[in-house]
Amino acid sequence: MKFRNFRMVSYVVYGRGSFDQLEEILTPQRKGDAPMIFLADHFFEKGAPTGNGQPLINRIPLRGKDKVIFADVTYEPKTSYVDKLAQDLKAAFGTISGIIGIGGGSVMDLAKAVSLMMNNPGSSADYQGWDLVKLPGVYKAGIPTLSGTGAEVSRTTVLTGPTRKLGMNSDFTPFDQIVLDPELTANAPVNQRFYTGMDCYIHCIESLQGTYLNEFSKSYGEKALELCREVFVRKNNWDSESDDKLMMASYAGGMSIAYSQVGVAHAVSYGLSYLLGTKHGIGNCIVMDHLEEYYPEGVAEFKKMVEKNKVEIPTGICKGLTDEQFDTMINVSLGMKPLWENALGRDWEKIMTRDKLRALYEKL
Ligand code: NAD
Ligand code: ZN
Repeated sequence: MKFRNFRMVSYVVYGRGSFDQLEEILTPQRKGDAPMIFLADHFFEKGAPTGNGQPLINRIPLRGKDKVIFADVTYEPKTSYVDKLAQDLKAAFGTISGIIGIGGGSVMDLAKAVSLMMNNPGSSADYQGWDLVKLPGVYKAGIPTLSGTGAEVSRTTVLTGPTRKLGMNSDFTPFDQIVLDPELTANAPVNQRFYTGMDCYIHCIESLQGTYLNEFSKSYGEKALELCREVFVRKNNWDSESDDKLMMASYAGGMSIAYSQVGVAHAVSYGLSYLLGTKHGIGNCIVMDHLEEYYPEGVAEFKKMVEKNKVEIPTGICKGLTDEQFDTMINVSLGMKPLWENALGRDWEKIMTRDKLRALYEKL
């Protein structure tokens, strides 16, 4: 038995208003006059206020040739977008001191991937898989503005490439620094906050019910689950404490899957997102709604949370798809072997047949 030896984020700061320590954090990372690049979610472009009422742009500690780029996350990150961002930066500056991703899981993943592509040759599509990245990227920091994905702590960056949707999983992928400032999540729309928050809840259920579970994963998973329950089941109103708790749930949920894996909801949701462009959080919710057979208690509680938080989960999204389209989703989903093995055990292929998966997709 070989145990996973994984790299983690090097520095973590947590606290309301900790974003304002960014200047102090970045100063030692500056290399001569090479700029810091701030890759910010396009949601902040029009001056949307952060938790303390000030627009994000006014709070970014710009120096010299530093640049703010607003990332378009209308679609989840594609390898082509990562490659373009990295090429443009190389053309403009040669080298950069670092890249700081400020946003949801999409922007954080983009920042990680661009960091790696500043120093690795070819296209990011060449590195979709496990441990294919050969060289460290430039300095990278992640600052979540939505809580739930765990992208702030993970060793992957999920990208849609020409032939697959798969992460650049490597020891070079985790951030050098994360800034966990719950104030930045305060203005997230209710639905988005729920979908991304449920990503965390689902990570916990899949990790805790999985065959890969060990005490390391369990300890983090149980804490994250408890925090999700406090926020989405017990509380009646969203407040600043909810933002604090959900940010730590996301972190702990991410730590839980670092040593285990996700499961059925994610494996099926990847098929939806590859074919239909369904976003990660909402896709997971659409699938989770139909997984009583695999996660009976988790699904019952999920349905209660949907009702309590008055959120709509779309239905009928696979209506009218062709056999070929179903096959595409089934191929993508069954390709996620570690997820299925974690969920259903070594003999998963006997349990999750193509016909069974097709029947599940038809329900969505
Ligand atoms: P997201 O980053 O895709 O953002 C969703 C929407 O919310 C966007 O329109 C964005 O502009 C907006 N937004 C972001 N912050 C906001 C704020 N504070 N207020 C208002 N709007 C805001 O959503 P997400 O659920 O955080 O991330 C999903 C992505 O994360 C997917 O691409 C998925 O593949 C990835 N992911 C990565 C990992 C990992 O380990 N790397 C894990 C899970 C998911
Ligand atoms: Zn997820």
